[in-house]
Amino acid sequence: MSDLRCDLVDAGHLIATGIDGIVGHGAVFEDVVRRLGLVIGRWGIDNGAETVHFPPVMSRANLERNGYLRSFPQLAAVLHGFGCGVHGPFTTGSDGDLSTGLMMVPSACYTIYPMVAARGPLRAEGALVETWSRCFRREPSTDTPRLQSFRMHEYVKLGRGADVVAFREAWIEKAQALYASLQLPFRLDNANDAFFGRPGRLMASSQRERNLKIELLVPIMVGAKPTACCSFNYAEAHFTEAWQINMEDESTAHSGCVGFGMERTTLALFGHHGFQPERWPDGVRQLLYG
Ligand code: ATP
Ligand code: ZN
Repeated sequence: MSDLRCDLVDAGHLIATGIDGIVGHGAVFEDVVRRLGLVIGRWGIDNGAETVHFPPVMSRANLERNGYLRSFPQLAAVLHGFGCGVHGPFTTGSDGDLSTGLMMVPSACYTIYPMVAARGPLRAEGALVETWSRCFRREPSTDTPRLQSFRMHEYVKLGRGADVVAFREAWIEKAQALYASLQLPFRLDNANDAFFGRPGRLMASSQRERNLKIELLVPIMVGAKPTACCSFNYAEAHFTEAWQINMEDESTAHSGCVGFGMERTTLALFGHHGFQPERWPDGVRQLLYG
């Protein structure tokens, strides 16, 4: 366990569960997560975003339609139930292990595409949606900021390619201003998703070459290796094609999203500013506690 994690557990801000990447949070940590969410959400109000919220489970068929199981099977988690006989649940064998048709949500934006698709073609201005979700990725790790269950606060833009690019550019600026106001050290970097297997390596290098994923990296404490606290993704027509989302004039729609890692950003606040939010720097307190 890292020193920071031990210290946060001792202070009651984190609660160990004995499972790598599954962590409970005390009231003070949760309050910071909530306040950070409100700050991120304020931008949505100013920009006319629609706010929606979904449960942390979604249809497996919908995730497959997004290509998630092809691209990230190593991270995916399917929910199974048990068949029950007269002696209780079957606990072994495929006949007792029943699929529910549900999977854990791996990224908040995956819940949004089916919703937008069901509404029909996009008007010229496109759609701007704000959401957050508890996300699950099967990547158990002892690295403090790498969790299996974490919250992602996202903005998703669907519309003309140029508008999606402008949305992403605007958020890259706004997010840098946010992390500067939070007085956290950060840098931007070109990145790629953890696509699976050999075809995945090609997809990852193409994603990098075409600058489709940019991350804002923050070390969660002095001396820690920088970790992605925020990602800015341009998916081009990947999701819109899968969901047949078009513009009203039948031109191709594109999508992009910006995702904030809520636990990682909160960990960095505790890691850099100390364990007592009432003693954090004035500017940070002003932003979060106003
Ligand atoms: P990483 O490169 O660290 O695996 P990612 O690039 O896969 O992250 P995204 O899929 O873009 O992350 O998710 C958006 C944001 O969600 C990330 O910027 C990060 O802050 C947060 N996030 C992603 N994976 C995790 C995780 N395993 N634990 C905690 N937060 C995470
Ligand atoms: Zn997303």
